[in-house]
Amino acid sequence: MIPAKKLVMIPGPVPVSLSVLQKLGSEVKAHTDPEFVAEFQSLLSELRSITNCDGIAFLVAGSGTMGMEMAIANIADEKDKVLVCSNGHFGDRYISICRNRGLDITTMEAEWGKSVTPEEVDRELSKGGYTVAVMTHVETSTGVELHLEKMAEMMKERHPDVLFVVDGVAAGGGVKADMAWGIDVYFTCTQKAFCCVPGMAIVWAGQRALKKREELKSIRESYVDYARWIPVMTDTKKYWGTPAVNNISALKESVRIMLEEGLEERYRRHRNHAALIVEAMAALGFRTLAEDDLRSPTLSIFLYPENMPVEDLSFRESCADEGALLAACLGEYAGKGFRMGHMGNIDKHMLISAIAAIERAAISCGLDVKPGAALAVMQLGLAGK
Ligand code: PMP
Repeated sequence: MIPAKKLVMIPGPVPVSLSVLQKLGSEVKAHTDPEFVAEFQSLLSELRSITNCDGIAFLVAGSGTMGMEMAIANIADEKDKVLVCSNGHFGDRYISICRNRGLDITTMEAEWGKSVTPEEVDRELSKGGYTVAVMTHVETSTGVELHLEKMAEMMKERHPDVLFVVDGVAAGGGVKADMAWGIDVYFTCTQKAFCCVPGMAIVWAGQRALKKREELKSIRESYVDYARWIPVMTDTKKYWGTPAVNNISALKESVRIMLEEGLEERYRRHRNHAALIVEAMAALGFRTLAEDDLRSPTLSIFLYPENMPVEDLSFRESCADEGALLAACLGEYAGKGFRMGHMGNIDKHMLISAIAAIERAAISCGLDVKPGAALAVMQLGLAGK
């Protein structure tokens, strides 16, 4: 039998458009090539506009974890008091990164499936002394979206002196983040809703964050030091570390696709698709780990029904055989469901194929589902009915 084409439906990396991949396979240019220099500079200005950043967009080779380190290294040292909020596994990762740096941190952890709230954060910050607060826009282990605009508004109004750092790795490019809401640093990486290949992080630092970097004087790190990269990001002819030239050209193409779709439309599409997928999966008896009003537009964690006839791994293997690659759950939810990415340039064909593959796997694994139940939801929704 001809094997089914495997759709990568994990929460990143995501399927990437051919025109983006072609940029990776094109001749390598010198990073000093005037054509590349201009392309890089223009990409940085597009990136700044995407989050409405009044400072600098740093585009640096490395994964999202490097973005986490870069963001915190340039905004806090041992003299700072940092509130680190965690909604799950990646929030916990940020706690450990901050701890490793020897920062004076206080942690606030939400139960998995829930989110820290503006009220709780306000209460903690009101105790005083805090200079920085760190949060995750979309938590990839739980599929929970932080209500960022509300949180940022509260921070701006009640704690204007506290710098606000947001991990947007699983959100950026798929969920709106406007730094004018009151966000000082926002970061993401290229393999998620920016719909490019893994390899680079984007860190947006607003004016207040850049001022704080100046006040810190020298920092321990070199590679992720804003001070080293500012000359490059403001004049792309300059050099600090060799830019990932092909990845940068590929990202330029993927940003072109994003802007052509229109950002507001893109954010709306992510929300609509997410809602449809959740409804379709409910027709198969799967529910989300995230509470209803906290479900992320970019990815979902689906928990297996009570009467699941097979183990987690065999179900996901079955989905893969049918053509949809899904990720395992993390932490205490390992084995209890799967994580599904639905971010980037997922079109109607991909959505239908992914849901059809999951439905076939459910049937072949012996789940009591009505064939076509999930697909019917998707078809009606995608047809606008
Ligand atoms: N933060 C969040 C919210 C993430 O989802 C991830 C990756 N899944 C990371 C940070 C780390 O990114 P990376 O794997 O690219 O280092």
